[in-house]
This record gives sequence, structure tokens and C-alpha cells, in this order.
Amino acid sequence: MPEKMQGMGAIPGVGIGYIMKAGQALDGYLAAYQPGTVEEELEKLDSAVAEVADILEKSVEQMRAVGHDEQANIMEAHLFLAQDPMLTDGMTDKVQEMGNAPAAILASAAESAKIFQSMDDEYLRERAADVLDVSKRIAGKILGIKEPEVGDRMVILCGYEVEPSVIASVPDDKIAGVIMGQGSTTCHAVIIAKSRAIPTVVGMEHRLDAIPEGAFVIIDGHTGDIFVDPDEETIKEYEAKLAKQRADEERYAALKDLPAVTKDGVEVQLAANIGSPNDAENAAKYGNKGVGLFRSEFVFMGREDIPSEEMQFESYKKAVEACNGELCVIRTMDIGGDKPLPYLNIPHEDNPFLGYRAIRISLNRRDLFMPQLKAILRAGVYGRAAIMAPMIVSVDEILRLRSFVREAMQELEDEGKEYSKTVQLGIMVETPAAAVMTPIFAKYVDFFSIGTNDLVQYTLSVDRVNPNVGYLYNHFHPAVLQLIQRTIKSASDRGIWSGMCGEMASDPYAAVILMAMGISELSMSAPSIPRVKEMLRSVTYEEAQKHLAKVMEMETGEQVLKYLHEALTH
Ligand code: PEP
Ligand code: MG
Repeated sequence: MPEKMQGMGAIPGVGIGYIMKAGQALDGYLAAYQPGTVEEELEKLDSAVAEVADILEKSVEQMRAVGHDEQANIMEAHLFLAQDPMLTDGMTDKVQEMGNAPAAILASAAESAKIFQSMDDEYLRERAADVLDVSKRIAGKILGIKEPEVGDRMVILCGYEVEPSVIASVPDDKIAGVIMGQGSTTCHAVIIAKSRAIPTVVGMEHRLDAIPEGAFVIIDGHTGDIFVDPDEETIKEYEAKLAKQRADEERYAALKDLPAVTKDGVEVQLAANIGSPNDAENAAKYGNKGVGLFRSEFVFMGREDIPSEEMQFESYKKAVEACNGELCVIRTMDIGGDKPLPYLNIPHEDNPFLGYRAIRISLNRRDLFMPQLKAILRAGVYGRAAIMAPMIVSVDEILRLRSFVREAMQELEDEGKEYSKTVQLGIMVETPAAAVMTPIFAKYVDFFSIGTNDLVQYTLSVDRVNPNVGYLYNHFHPAVLQLIQRTIKSASDRGIWSGMCGEMASDPYAAVILMAMGISELSMSAPSIPRVKEMLRSVTYEEAQKHLAKVMEMETGEQVLKYLHEALTH
């Protein structure tokens, strides 16, 4: 039996290759190192810095040449660090003090990293990892550690933390996957791997020791499965999956710049759901048209206090700019429910999904809401932005929201700050009350975006995070379909646009009937865009309307699902 291990899937896809241990500790090399005189050590430092800068410069050029811009940017940041006197002077001083170049480089880097780690700004905190990465590379040069040597075989990089520079140094046609011990899915290494769609499994912790150097391994970046030394049957199964994945990728790549349009010319805008401005940049390679949901609560999470207007502005501006003139819908903070925020000190609730959350907090906390609205309005100057409020249930909330926005504009006016007067104002339709009220709500907003994750939860009274009732959770339930249809119709009756940003939008079968209902936009995690586009391009509006008429007559969600899968699987 092959050994099967379970990690956390971070970047989906099948990877088959040979383990190359990477990002390992330098301790063993350091212990064996014999330093020379201080002058000699200083010379070694200078030439190692120059050598690393040279490698980085070449690597930036190569990355740019093949269009890996995000990776090139990170490598360029490493290059600047390697040339930054702040860092190198610190290293020189330490070499003079310690007389051992590699040990001094690492000690000096650890001190600089500590300073970055203590900073408030998340971006600057992340620089700590970059400082350590570059310094390790410089020290590694002196210790005689070779850059990863990739032979003819496909490799799977494996280490507790595989440094971004190591991932960047292995070319596309040689890297099959990444396995990491650490559990973060947002660190630079994962961002780099994601921008190159390298299947990645994280969170293996000490179990990494059971994966030997050179072992033949299969990873599934979706499920987090790792097979060490797989048997013939498993190899066959995963080779077939890999072949399908490659064929899908080729078809999807060809679709990237084509519109999501039916055979008879009905177009739906396919936008991306994002949690950070970087996601917006990554989404471009899937051919997204704008952002339909920026979950801004992620800007508020992982910190110790409320992010300032300025910090939020930088974040939203970057996302708006990454949309290249398409709309960027920024949802106001949706805290509460399954997303707690410790520094708001919200007392324990028995029913957090029905409690003090989302717009209910925002309307009650001027100190929180005003900076956010002002930051979005200011970001609107750099492209097209929209404000979207979550969890709306009443007209009163919309009117209060509008009055907050007016006040935010007035404050910006008084402060002489530039802002956009054309930022759209919309709401999420994610409660049954909102869906029922859409004919009225449509008078007060510029658009609706249907949040099926919550709409299904509230309509069917099924906790979205409780696996024991997961079998009841079905976006094709007739009650849900009727609320969705009502929402889309209310929007078109009033001449405003409607979209969807819940998970249902990424279901290609659902996309067909939503298009037939008249939805204008579907927003989803970017990698789902090609599948939905392929489906929409394979049908006509007329056919879709026939399917819609049939499913709206059905009595259960299971019938709808079965019918659509049979009718639309070509
Ligand atoms: C939704 O409820 O469908 C939605 C998109 O919002 P979230 O998943 O963030 O609650
Ligand atoms: Mg929601």
C-alpha cells in the first residue's frame, strides 16, 4: 500500500514528481564552516551579495519575459533588499563583530526581520520573510550551498517553509508541486505558487520528515492528499486526472480573452471574488471582467486594531486599479457570523449568524464605518468602484446607509480630498426578507448582488458551516430559485443591474438558468471563471429559457440538479 498522508489543499491541481527538499535549515553547514580573517570574511560578504544580486536580476528579467509579473515583482523586491545599504551595512557591522560571515549575515537578518515583524502594517510585517529569504541566500552562497539543481525529472519542492526565491528558481516545465510544513495560505511562497498555478499542499508540520528526499510522490492540491511511493493503480488514476487537467487548462487558456456569451449573443459579465488586492491581480489570468465582491473584512482581519482610512484606501485603490476600468465592487465589512474580529469585543452570541453582524455593526459604529466609506469613495478616483452593503433586511437600513455615504462625501469635501461622485451603491440580497422586498429596494440602490451562501442558509434554515445538515443545503431548492428569480426580475423592472456573488455563481449548470432569468453578472473565485464561460458559450439563450421553464416547475432541488446535469452534459 502506498503511504497516504493528509495535508491542507492550498492550490488545486494534481502534481506528480520527485521530492526535492528545499528551504531547509542552514545549521549543519554553519557548524562545519571555518571562517577566515575578518578581512576575508568581509570580502566573502561583498562578493556573495554581488552574486545574489546578479542572480536575482537575471531571474527578474526571465520572469518578466515569460509574463510572470507578480513573481518578478517579488524577486525585484528581493533585489532591492540585497542592494539596500540598511541591510548590507548591518551585515558588515555584524561580520566585524563576529568574524564569521554567514553566521553574522543570519544574525543581522534576524534583527532586521524582528523590526519588520513588530510593525503595524501587514505589508511591512510580511517583508520580514523577504529579509530572511534574501539573507539566507547570501549566507548560503558563502557556505557553498548550491541553488536548487533541477535535473530532467519533475520536482515537488518540500520543506517547512519553502522560500519564494526557491520556488521562483525552478522553471515551469520542471515544477510539479509544493509541499509545506507551515499552514498559511497567504504567505509569499503560496502567492507565488498560486500565480503560477502550482499545486500546493500546506500544513504538514513535522509529518514532513516522513517524506524522503527523491521519493516519488503524487499530490492533490484540492483535497490535500499526498501519496508517497504510490502503487500502479494510484499512479494510473492520477495520471488520468493530470491528463484531464492539462486538456482543461489548454481549453481554458484559449477562452481567456473571449467573452462569456451564448451562441445567440447574450453576454454575462464574469467577475472575480477577492479577499485582497493581490487576488485581483491574479484573477486577470483567468480572464475576469472586474471584481464582483471584494470581501473587505479580510482587510480588517489578522490585525490588532481597526485599519486606518489611509491603509484601507491603499488596499481598495490597488484593487480598483487592477480591474483595468471594469467595476470593482467593494463590500463593506461583513464581520460576525463565521468571521469574528476580536478587537471589536463583540460579546458571545448563541446565534451569531442571526446576531450583531455586518451592516448592523457598521451602522452602529461610525468610527468603523466612516473611514471605510471614505476610503472606497477615494479609491473610486482610480477606476470604477462600487460600495455594497451586506445583510440588508429593511428599507430603513438602506436609507441610513445612503445618508452615511452622503456624510462621508461631505467630510471628504471639507477635508479637500479627491473622491469619486459616481461610485455606485448596491446591496447584497442574502436574506429572504431582502429578496422578497427587492421591488421596493430597487428604488433606492444601483444594483443587487445575490449572496447565495447566506440566502440558502437563511431560506432553508440550514447552518452553512454545520456538516451534519449539509445534505439539506442546495442552491437549486425551489424556494431559493423563486427568491433569486424575483430579485433578478425586480432589478430589470426598475432598470438596475443584478449579479450574484455567492458560490452558486461558480456552478456552470446554475449559470445557464441564471442567464435565462436575466442576470447581468456572475462573480466567483477566479479559477472557476473558465468553466462557467465554457458552459455559457455552449448554449443558446433560447435553450436556456426552455431549461429554466422546466426547472421552475419542479418540486425539489434534487430534481433540478439531476435535470440540469443530464440536459447540459454534452
Ligand atoms: C454570500 O453570503 O453568498 C456571500 C457572498 O457572502 P459571504 O460568503 O462572505 O457571507
Ligand atoms: Mg454573506
